[in-house]
Amino acid sequence: MTDRKADLSIRGVSKSYGATLALKDVDLELPGGKLICFLGPSGCGKTTLLRIIAGLESVSSGSVRLGANDLTNVPTHKRNVGMVFQSFALFPHLSVAENVAYGLRIRGVGKQERLRRADELLALVQMEGLGSRGIAQLSGGQRQRVAMARALALDPDLFLLDEPLSALDAKLREAMQVELRRLQRQVGITTIIVTHDQEEAMTMADLVVVMGNNRVQQVGTPLDVYRRPVNRFVADFIGSNNFLPATVAGVGAVTVLGQQLSMRVPEGASGEVTLSVRPEDVRLHTEAPAGPAFEGRVSFVRDLGRTVETFVTVAGSELSVLGAPALAEGTAVWLEVPEDAGVVLAQ
Ligand code: ATP
Repeated sequence: MTDRKADLSIRGVSKSYGATLALKDVDLELPGGKLICFLGPSGCGKTTLLRIIAGLESVSSGSVRLGANDLTNVPTHKRNVGMVFQSFALFPHLSVAENVAYGLRIRGVGKQERLRRADELLALVQMEGLGSRGIAQLSGGQRQRVAMARALALDPDLFLLDEPLSALDAKLREAMQVELRRLQRQVGITTIIVTHDQEEAMTMADLVVVMGNNRVQQVGTPLDVYRRPVNRFVADFIGSNNFLPATVAGVGAVTVLGQQLSMRVPEGASGEVTLSVRPEDVRLHTEAPAGPAFEGRVSFVRDLGRTVETFVTVAGSELSVLGAPALAEGTAVWLEVPEDAGVVLAQ
C-alpha cells in the first residue's frame, strides 16, 4: 500500500467517549523507519492514540496520514498495520508456525509459501526450529516473540505494540527490550510502542512522545526529554527533579532562594518561574565556594547502594542531592547549581 519508511502525520486529533475526553488536539509528525515510544501515566490516552493509528478506534476530529495516504476513514484491515497486544492474543489451538502464518492463510497464500515465510520470521525472532510446538509449551518471552513474528508476517507499513513487555518479569523484560530494538533496526519498519515505563522508553526509543492529561506534552529524543523538559509535567514524570520557585532576573538570570544564578531562560518566560534541577547535578560543598551557592543543613542521608542520597534543607525547602559523600545530619553545606544543570520552566 505505502512504503514502510513513510512519515506518519497526526493532525488535530481529539477523541471523546461520551463525556470522557481521551485525547485533546494531538499534532504529531513521526518520521518513518524509527522506533517511537508513547510514554505517559495511566489514562493519558496512549492506547487510544495507538488504536486510532491502527484504525481500531475512530477519531472525534482530526486526521491520520501515512505518507501521501489519508488513513482517517480507512478500516483497520486495509491499513496494513501489524499489532501486538499486552496479552499477546495467540491462538492456543494452533502451532507456533500456524500462529505466525495465520494472516497469510486468511489472505490465501499457499501452504508452501506460508511455511517458508513462517520459518523466515521465526528465525528473525530467534525461534528457529520451534514452529511445530504448541503455544502452551512456550515461555512468556517465546510467546511474545511469536506475537511479534505474527504481526510482521504481512509485511506491515506500521508495527504497533501496546505495552508488549508489561506481562514479563523484570529480567526477561530487559532482555526483550534489547531484542525488540535489534529487531526494529533489522527490519527498519516504523514502530510505535506504548509504555508507562520511562526506563523502557528511554532505552529503546529513537523518539519519545511524552503524554499527560490527554495531550502530547513533548516529543524528543530520550536525551532531549531528560535534559531539556519543556514543562513541569515532563520534568516531574521523567526521572526525579528538585523544583524551586524562582523569578526571572533579566536575560540569562534567575533569582532562587535569594541568590541570583546565571541560567538559560526560555523565550517568553518572565516573572514567576520554576527552576528544575536533577539531584545528580547539584554540587555539594562543605565549605562556601567562590560562586553563588545555597547555604543549608543536611537533614537526612540514605545509602542507595550505588550512590548516596543527601537531603539538604535550604531556607525551608528540601533538596535532594545524589553522589555526595555520606555526611552527618546537621552538617552545614553549600549547594551549587551550575548554569548548565538547571532548567527554567515557564510554568
Ligand atoms: P493505560 O496505561 O492505563 O492503559 P492509557 O494512557 O493507555 O492508559 P487510554 O486507555 O487511552 O489511556 O484511555 C484514555 C482515557 O479514555 C481514559 O480516561 C479512559 O478511561 C478513557 N477510555 C478509553 N477507552 C474507553 C472506552 N472504550 N470507553 C470509555 N472511555 C474510554
